[in-house]
Parts: sequence; structure tokens; C-alpha cells
Amino acid sequence: MRSIYPSTSHWTALPVRRHDVRLTRLRIGHTRFTHRHLLLGENAPECPSCKVPYSVYHILIDCHILIDW
Ligand SMILES: [Zn+2]
Repeated sequence: MRSIYPSTSHWTALPVRRHDVRLTRLRIGHTRFTHRHLLLGENAPECPSCKVPYSVYHILIDCHILIDW
């Protein structure tokens, strides 16, 4: 989480709870897409081009394929 958002002290809540939950999940790096495998007992989803498990940091910052989108 710290690599995506270094501090949680000054987060402002969005007025629409659904949007606030999604933004918070992105900030802490725990999304359904990246963590669903833990609940289902499956292998972690892997970026097909980088061969690393998907993470919010990888999707937003690190993936060289997704940067070009
Ligand atoms: Zn990648």
C-alpha cells in the first residue's frame, strides 16, 4: 500500500459510498481482481507479458504493456 499511497492520514471520503469503497481498495492494493484467488483457493492471476502476479501497483505503475494503453 505504501508504494501506491504513502499515508492514510488525510484521505477524504467520497460522497458516494460505492465509489469510496472502490477508491479505498485501490489505495490499499486489495481489489477483487487481485485478491479473489485467496477466497477461491486458486493460483494468483498472472500478467501474461511480465509473468508476475497481478497487483494494483503492477497494473497502475509497473507493467510495461499496460503503460502504452
Ligand atoms: Zn505486466
